[in-house]
Amino acid sequence: MFGFSIQKLIVLAAIIAAVWYGFKFIGRLDKARKHAAKLTRDGARAAAGAAPAAETEDMERCEACDAYVSARDPASCGRADCPYPG
Ligand SMILES: [Zn+2]
Repeated sequence: MFGFSIQKLIVLAAIIAAVWYGFKFIGRLDKARKHAAKLTRDGARAAAGAAPAAETEDMERCEACDAYVSARDPASCGRADCPYPG
């Protein structure tokens, strides 16, 4: 009456298995993606920690040429009246 045949049960089992392994596969991809994102974040943080001077730097204005030079390591603009060593 309901027609439960062995073929239908096998197909049903195959569908359930496909969904089950599909979710496992998606979960594994998501875990790999999160791991990669964490590595990228850690790498960016390590790079920032290694060279903080590259992120921001105080500048000061040259009186002679109005150019902004690094306050930590000022360099001359090349003009004779530039107050910075060059
Ligand atoms: Zn200058």
